[in-house]
Amino acid sequence: ARKPLMIGNWKMNKTPAESVVLSQGISNRYNRKWDKVGVVLCPPSIDLRPVVTVLDYDKSLIEVGAQNVHWEPSGAFTGEISIPMLKDVGATWCIVGHSERREMFAETDETVNLKVRALVDARLHPIVCVGESLAVRDAGTTIGFVTDQVRAAFAGLEPAEAALAVVAYEPIWAIGTGRTATPEQAQEVCAAIRATLADMFGTETAQSMRILYGGSMKPANVDMFMPCEDIDGGLIGGAALKVEDFTALVEAA
Ligand code: 13P
Repeated sequence: ARKPLMIGNWKMNKTPAESVVLSQGISNRYNRKWDKVGVVLCPPSIDLRPVVTVLDYDKSLIEVGAQNVHWEPSGAFTGEISIPMLKDVGATWCIVGHSERREMFAETDETVNLKVRALVDARLHPIVCVGESLAVRDAGTTIGFVTDQVRAAFAGLEPAEAALAVVAYEPIWAIGTGRTATPEQAQEVCAAIRATLADMFGTETAQSMRILYGGSMKPANVDMFMPCEDIDGGLIGGAALKVEDFTALVEAA
């Protein structure tokens, strides 16, 4: 029995002032039902401090993550943020290898692996994003493509380190398009991801790890995905920016 997990990826949305309003709105809706679900908010890095402050003040069980991090602890890397900075601010999760970063900011399987290793060394939780383009889907090579991404991201880890991470399967053609994968398509890939993790780290570790679906998930379609055996929650973009939608997703998890 894996605890379901709903993660909000705010992407480049919400100023620090707006981040207080949104996190407070979500925190205000917290109720006992939410204890059965893991909830993580991933605001822009400049919003981490205000969001953590709001949630700490509420003594909330909601956790906070960054959207990206550099693998070096400090140095001449203009514009980057480090793991010690995340730890200082109280973030415990970090998205790694989102398709937007792979496509627009030259993130590669190699840099994803460096980030995952640095995060687990610091006992932070990587949210490892994988997913195929429409061209790959149409070519019929989705399973090989995605499982190669998983192998690369987790290369060199011990099972206990891998177990700190979650994997998010986000087909690129379903992100921000309003078009989701079918539950059958999502389940097929998530099962292949779990089989790959089992091959690398053993069945017990793979069975304990959460695998999420992402891509236009919203209250109206979440019920299609949650019954799928290998889907343990969602990585939510657009619907994470509205209190009503995100709380409905947490309650459906
Ligand atoms: P949408 O939910 O807006 O499609 O975004 C999904 C996503 O990329 C989450 O990381």
